[in-house]
Amino acid sequence: MKLLIADDSLTQRVMLQAIAKKWGFDTILAEDGLQAWKVLSSADAPRLVLLDWEMPGLDGPEVCRRVRAIETEDPPYILLLTSRNETEDIVTGLEAGANDYISKPFNNSELLARAKVGKRMLTLQSELAKAKKTLNFQATHDVLTGLMNRRAIMDSLKKEITRSQRNKQILSIGLLDIDHFKQINDTYGHLVGDEVLKEVAQRMERVLRPYDHLGRYGGEEFLVILNADRGQEVAPFERIRNAISDKPFVVGEASLDITISCGVTLGKSTTEEEGDGTKLIAAADVVLYEAKANGRNQVILAK
Ligand SMILES: [Mg+2]
Repeated sequence: MKLLIADDSLTQRVMLQAIAKKWGFDTILAEDGLQAWKVLSSADAPRLVLLDWEMPGLDGPEVCRRVRAIETEDPPYILLLTSRNETEDIVTGLEAGANDYISKPFNNSELLARAKVGKRMLTLQSELAKAKKTLNFQATHDVLTGLMNRRAIMDSLKKEITRSQRNKQILSIGLLDIDHFKQINDTYGHLVGDEVLKEVAQRMERVLRPYDHLGRYGGEEFLVILNADRGQEVAPFERIRNAISDKPFVVGEASLDITISCGVTLGKSTTEEEGDGTKLIAAADVVLYEAKANGRNQVILAK
């Protein structure tokens, strides 16, 4: 683990570096508060810090304050080194954002014990952040396809409606439904059906741009939200339709010709009327039904 040692005393730095190396840390040295701040505000900054209180430029508590003002998921653990023993000073240091302090002159084994506490806290903090990320992903994504789930894609729709109105952009909303999906399930079984859903999702992702929104809306229904160029509102959905019908889906022994039908509606920038997007989806649903009735494997734009 990387450890920043910030102390203006050369003797102290050399001594701390020697023991920290012995304990297995990769050390980075700073000779004053400004250098320490420079290191801590850089990308890939060390997360464990021994920070002297009294330093020219910026003192330890000021470095702490600046570091704590950075918004990050992995804040560093800061151990303040101080010859100040007054309660008031200690409170100042901790309130500035130090995690702990140790009084000079300190005993090496106590310093190591406190550094170990820091290391443990950092490990816990990373694990927690990772768990939070996983939970958040699970709450917003569909397990089978890995796409956004219905709730998440509806949230995106709300946001995109507001954004497109502000930027005067055309919002294209496409509701897509795999044709005769029930037959696939009935004929080949649900496992094959699941593989088809996964591949449909992948093929769709491949033709969409990274900033387009794609989610699984329901069983075999998908919702796509994108900002289209004028006159090109339907083109991205035609690309999706082609990507699905282009070549057969090979699942195990089976080779399946899959097609998809799509209803598209455009956000009309008519402010509140579109609200949470349910009206737009209803409009897309009407033309999706029309596409199905017209023989499927087609894209229809709502009038
Ligand atoms: Mg000093």
